[in-house]
Amino acid sequence: MIKIQNYINGEYCDPISGQWLDNVDPSCGQVYAQIPNSDAQDVTNAYKAAKAAQAGWAATSIDTRSAILLKLAALIEKNIDRLATAESRDNGKPIWLAKAVDIPRAATNFRFFGNAITQFASEAHENVGNNSINFTLREPLGVVGCISPWNLPLYLFSWKVAPAIAAGNTVVAKPSEVTPMTAYLLGELCTEAGLPKGVLNIVHGLGRQTGQEIVAHKGIKAISFTGGTATGAHIAKVAAPMFKKLSLELGGKNPNLIFADCDFDLMLKVTLKSSFANQGQICLCGSRIFVEAAIYDKFKSAFVEAVKKLSVGNPAEEGHNLGAVVSEVHMNKVLEYIEVAKQEGNLLCGGKRLIIEGSEGGFYIAPTVIETTTTQCRINQEEVFGPLVTITKFETETEAIQMANDVPYGLSSTVWTSNLDRTMRVSKQLEAGIVWVNTWLNRDLRTPFGGTKASGVGREGGLEALRFFTEPKNICIQYKN
Ligand code: NAP
Repeated sequence: MIKIQNYINGEYCDPISGQWLDNVDPSCGQVYAQIPNSDAQDVTNAYKAAKAAQAGWAATSIDTRSAILLKLAALIEKNIDRLATAESRDNGKPIWLAKAVDIPRAATNFRFFGNAITQFASEAHENVGNNSINFTLREPLGVVGCISPWNLPLYLFSWKVAPAIAAGNTVVAKPSEVTPMTAYLLGELCTEAGLPKGVLNIVHGLGRQTGQEIVAHKGIKAISFTGGTATGAHIAKVAAPMFKKLSLELGGKNPNLIFADCDFDLMLKVTLKSSFANQGQICLCGSRIFVEAAIYDKFKSAFVEAVKKLSVGNPAEEGHNLGAVVSEVHMNKVLEYIEVAKQEGNLLCGGKRLIIEGSEGGFYIAPTVIETTTTQCRINQEEVFGPLVTITKFETETEAIQMANDVPYGLSSTVWTSNLDRTMRVSKQLEAGIVWVNTWLNRDLRTPFGGTKASGVGREGGLEALRFFTEPKNICIQYKN
């Protein structure tokens, strides 16, 4: 049995309480590792290590910080096979996907912020007539908390940790208890990269216990959180009275608007991915597909035919499009939503758990398409976060925009059209932090990333992340001529 340990002050250690949790391989439903059930004592130790390291790390030159982050990126790439295999086993995603996207992207996150910090400048404002000059320092916040979800484990963990440490903070971080493995392995690579002890501390355990202790800890100055909207609301309630800085990247129910003038073949290929990549467990997946009446029937038959051809199987095997969903609890949640969807709409394909030969205990769900006629139903309002999409017909551009916006969430949207004027009109009216036109999941890490409405508060990415993890201090100097 593999034993995952906390990484505190540059050392691996057991939880003080001696309590452990089971970690399940979703491809077969078997327990394969144990993880620390960390409590307040472990979080306090992680905090003390981070606090002790903070002044020294903040005083470390930008060049040195940058070099360590770049080395860490190179080490992640060097260990890509091991990390991708671990990610797949922990999460259920196909190994090819972890190898093509998750692990390379984790390396890119460290490389991006290792480079970005060398270009992070602040402003100066000279008031010539008044003989004064203002300049703004960007100082690290101190010890910060990073809490990440299970769907893109190392990718989202590194998306927070990299800018936090690049900016001179030290970190107490918690990955999801459901997918702790690659964050655990990262500790080893941090040591090898020469990251000073205490700069990154990784504490494993339950969200409501370990995560809660991080959020409630008085010494932790900011929380960067990615996860569900309900958890985000709870975190905001705990953190706001302490005036902690908060970045909340929350749930989505993203619309896909398909107009008749689009490049149909490209749209179809990408829409398959935006619907079912990572078993539909990407916050940016387009789970509500709205199609213009003129091509609705053509789309419906081509899409359903293509979905039926998707292969679902053991993530460790070559050749499957989809693997297992992350856990039994999550599988049951998605299956319950499928039953709701069957009541509210017309099942076109999928709609059930799959039992895979040789992996009978695994958590597999057939990619599911439901036809709906209204946005005002649970399946078009609530986030499912699994391999389930709805398709709905629209007649006019105005109706398409109204349907797209008729949801509590506002993370991303995708628009398929070849009309430039429509591109601009529609993009500007969509209530979302990110709009993709004729593409999906096309990410430039310099751009702001985040949602509106119930999808969150604040932006990650590029300089936005470095601004989040620093406090601006304005200094005004009056001088004599
Ligand atoms: P979750 O249940 O909200 O958990 C996210 C993280 O928060 C996990 O590490 C969790 O720990 C921890 N947590 C839970 N309760 C906590 C508490 N009271 N205090 C502090 N931490 C707590 O979300 P999830 O099910 O892991 O992830 C799926 C959700 O994430 C979906 O809604 C998805 O849309 C969203 N997501 C959003 C983005 C984005 O960029 N907007 C990206 C990816 C995912 P445990 O797992 O150990 O309970």
